[in-house]
Amino acid sequence: MSVKYQIPRGTFDILPEDSYKWQYVIAVFREVARSYNYQEIVTPIFENTELFERSVGNTSDIVQKEMYKFKDKKGREFALRPEGTAPVVRSYVENNLGMKDNSSKLYYLGPMFRYDRPQKGRFRQFYQYGVENIGSDNPFIDAEVISLGYAYLTKLGLQNFELEINSIGCVNCTGNYDKVLVEFFTPFKKELCPDCRGRINKKPKRLLDCKVPTCKRIALNAPSMLDYLDEDCKVHFARVQQNLKTLGIPFRINPKIVRGLDYYNKTAFEFIDKNLGAQNTLIGGGRYNELIKQFGGKDVPGIGFAGGFERLILSMEMEGVSFGKEQNPDIYFVVLGEKAKNIAGKLLLDLRSAGISVEFDPDKESIKAQMKAADRSKSRFALILGENELTQKKITLKDMKSGEQQLIELDKILESVSEFLL
Ligand SMILES: [Zn+2]
Ligand SMILES: [Zn+2]
Repeated sequence: MSVKYQIPRGTFDILPEDSYKWQYVIAVFREVARSYNYQEIVTPIFENTELFERSVGNTSDIVQKEMYKFKDKKGREFALRPEGTAPVVRSYVENNLGMKDNSSKLYYLGPMFRYDRPQKGRFRQFYQYGVENIGSDNPFIDAEVISLGYAYLTKLGLQNFELEINSIGCVNCTGNYDKVLVEFFTPFKKELCPDCRGRINKKPKRLLDCKVPTCKRIALNAPSMLDYLDEDCKVHFARVQQNLKTLGIPFRINPKIVRGLDYYNKTAFEFIDKNLGAQNTLIGGGRYNELIKQFGGKDVPGIGFAGGFERLILSMEMEGVSFGKEQNPDIYFVVLGEKAKNIAGKLLLDLRSAGISVEFDPDKESIKAQMKAADRSKSRFALILGENELTQKKITLKDMKSGEQQLIELDKILESVSEFLL
């Protein structure tokens, strides 16, 4: 008996017709990261659950509702990673990455997992890219990390995005602001959503970015963190802005950006797509100066960002920007007759070894069937090898667009084809 299986809810297959888009956005990300001298780091897709509980925060949505947790055969608790920063910082501390050089510039790519209600641009297994710059509190670095994100979106050809920045203060000044927020929100307690009611005393800042309309309306009049920054944070934020101006990167200050994770402080930022609806953050990031120390590392600051490829590709499709070339074969190899078939295998091997992409279908016999397939494959050229060509020790090269064809020497096939493909 056969059974038909379905993909788990909230996940998706990247099908061949779309995979070139993924390869493109990944390749451009690597290229931009490389130009800023960031090195790739790859961590496992699961970690000790506690790693996320302690860093992302026990009151965050991620930890409270969205983690895929499981016990292994020895009863140890693990979680599929819901985000990339905590694992990278874990690895940074565990492997003493800061030993050689004070600063580490790292980037990562890969699947993350959150048990969330699936909606447009939001999945249970999603693919993120991100960077982490560990080792400096210099506002120049804040602007540089932001500029890396900006460079990436720009290089992809996106135009309809905006940068919003904020400062959410540090351990010295954030406490005062929290008190002010608790005082502000308490009179509205009955009107707040259950989540906000639950975290009003623990994480009052989170009430600022609640998406529930009533909470949103109340938060509109909340006091701004920017009025409660201490001198150090004020100067830092002013310098970040100055540096962004120097780089020619337009931005807007949005005091409502708090980021959902506990470990953020000082600079927080988001790149927003103006065309997307509620789920419009392309890239989100910020400083996390306490996190490395909290993980048992040295007292070194850090800053980074992350973004999802799904939403990025959605944005690019909506703006109609190019994903580079679709990946069609260079050559469709057409073979007629037994004799030609006998030598075709070796010719295919030679061409493919030289890095030329060649398609050949041994199940198709007639020239008509093979030329039709060549058309469908969108290959640039067809190479046709029949009795006629064989007796002349030649092969026909046909340009699939213009229809022009010519005979080339069989023993110079590599050189000739390479030249035509230039
Ligand atoms: Zn501060
Ligand atoms: Zn709320």
